[in-house]
Amino acid sequence: MTAQIIDGRALARTVRREVEQRVVALAADGVVPGLAVVLAGDDPASQVYVRNKAKMAARVGIDARTIRLPAEVSAGDLLGVVERLNADDTVHGILVQLPLPAGISAAEASTILRAIDPAKDVDGLHPASLGQLVAGEAGFVACTPSGCMRMLRAHGVPLEGRRAVVIGRSTIVGKPMALLLLAANATVTVCHSRTVDLAARVREADVVIAAVGRPRLVRGDWVKPGAAVIDVGINRGDDGKLVGDVHFDEVSQVAGHLSPVPGGVGPMTIAYLLHNVSLAAARRLGGA
Ligand code: NDP
Repeated sequence: MTAQIIDGRALARTVRREVEQRVVALAADGVVPGLAVVLAGDDPASQVYVRNKAKMAARVGIDARTIRLPAEVSAGDLLGVVERLNADDTVHGILVQLPLPAGISAAEASTILRAIDPAKDVDGLHPASLGQLVAGEAGFVACTPSGCMRMLRAHGVPLEGRRAVVIGRSTIVGKPMALLLLAANATVTVCHSRTVDLAARVREADVVIAAVGRPRLVRGDWVKPGAAVIDVGINRGDDGKLVGDVHFDEVSQVAGHLSPVPGGVGPMTIAYLLHNVSLAAARRLGGA
C-alpha cells in the first residue's frame, strides 16, 4: 500500500480562509482581532516560529504584534507584560512563546502562563483551558492537537471505536491530543519514554500520533497496514533538513494516510492559532 499523503499546507489554507471569513464578519462590528506574541530571548527556532505566526496572522487580517524582550528579562517583568496585555482591549489573544529563557525557572514559567487571562489563552495551555478540555466544555484547545484532529477529519479517518496510540504525553501535544481522540470515541493509549515495547503498542493502532522529538523513531514494521499516521515531530537531521518522528519512506509503504514533515502538522498548528484568535474576538463580542 502507498499511503495517501495528508497535505497540511493545503488544509491550512482552507482553515485560514475560514478564519478570514470570520475576520470579515468581525470587521462589520468594528472589531479587528488582535494577537500579542511575547518573545523573550533569542532562541533561533522561536524567532522563526514567531515571524511565521505574525506573517500568517497579518495575511488573514489579524493585528499581530510581537513584544520582544531580552534573554535576561526577569519573571516579574514578564508577568508585568502579560498583565498589561490582559488589560488591553485591542488584544484578543496572548501567546508567550516557549521555551522561556534559561533564567526563568519552570515554576516561574508556570506562573507566567497562568497569569494569561483564560479568555485570551489562544495557545490553550492555561490550566483553565486544559480543565475545560477534560470536562468537555468549550474553551481554547491547544493548536497542534486541533490541527491533527482536523487532518484526520478532513480525510474521513474513522475514529469512533478505533484504537488510537499517541506517542508523547506533553501538555502541549500528547495529553490534549489524547483527550480529543477520546472525545471522538476512539480507544486511546498514551505511550511515553517508559512504555514497554512501544512498537507492539503502535502495531495495534488504527490511528498513530507521533509527538516525541526523536527523528524517524516510528518504523514501517511498527505500523498496522492501512493505519492513519500523523507525524508531529520536528527534528533537524544530520544534513540540517527537517525530519519527523516517523520514518517517512518506510511508513508511507504501509500506512493508509500519512502526514509529512515538513508540510504536515506545522502549518496546521499556525492555522489553528489564527482560528483561536478569531474565536477569542468573536467570543468577546458574544458571537461564538
Ligand atoms: P516533549 O519533549 O515535551 O515530549 C516528548 C514526549 O515524548 C514525552 O512524553 C516523552 O516521554 C516522549 N518520549 C521521548 N522519547 C521517547 C521514546 N524513545 N519513546 C517513547 N516516548 C518518548 O515534546 P513536545 O510534545 O513538545 O513535542 C514533541 C515533538 O513535536 C517535538 O519534535 C516538537 O518539536 C514537535 N512539535 C511540533 C509542533 C508542530 O507544530 N508541528 C508543535 C509542538 C511540538 P516522557 O514524558 O516519559 O519523558
